[in-house]
Amino acid sequence: MYLKSIEVQGFKSFANKIVFEFHNGITGIVGPNGSGKSNVGDAVRWVLGEQSAKQLRGGNMQDVIFSGTETRKPLGFASVAITLDNSDHKLDIEYEEVTVTRRLYRSGESEYLLNGTGCRLKDINELFYDTGIGKEGYSIIGQGQIDKILSGKPEERRELFDEAAGIVKFKRRKATALKK
Ligand code: ATP
Ligand code: MG
Repeated sequence: MYLKSIEVQGFKSFANKIVFEFHNGITGIVGPNGSGKSNVGDAVRWVLGEQSAKQLRGGNMQDVIFSGTETRKPLGFASVAITLDNSDHKLDIEYEEVTVTRRLYRSGESEYLLNGTGCRLKDINELFYDTGIGKEGYSIIGQGQIDKILSGKPEERRELFDEAAGIVKFKRRKATALKK
């Protein structure tokens, strides 16, 4: 499984629709300060369900919507879609390719899609349990996060190991079963 593409439109500094395509290897994103490198990482976090505006370096969630420049009007919605190659079926879903989309309108309305069909954030979270992908996963390590892991509470560090060991799914299911 690997990230094939990220499509952004109206997300932060990306007003126009842009598709970043990746191959099965290492990609570096380079550019001057303020050119939008970190915004690419934010887009991935966001589409995977990030709910904290602070984690996305904003004051409120609407701040992810393109807010305009001197020459360009603000946009009414933000949209991000990531496509993963799933030909090895690491994700427990029949599709060879999985696209996760999130959209947010200025009105506050928002939606998540899995391969083009509306779904709940919960469905997306469950799909990615134990893969290291997800807003809590270790596949996205932000600036300062290494320090947080090293100086974090033992329980927090434990969560990272649970995810890497692939047992989060079972823990969540157990918790749900006990609640019923
Ligand atoms: P550095 O090298 O300093 O880390 P960077 O390439 O990571 O820079 P980013 O932090 O990704 O840059 O991008 C910051 C830019 O994104 C700023 O110019 C900021 O104005 C712009 N930006 C952020 N949110 C929005 C928004 N909602 N609408 C328009 N532009 C935005
Ligand atoms: Mg940056």
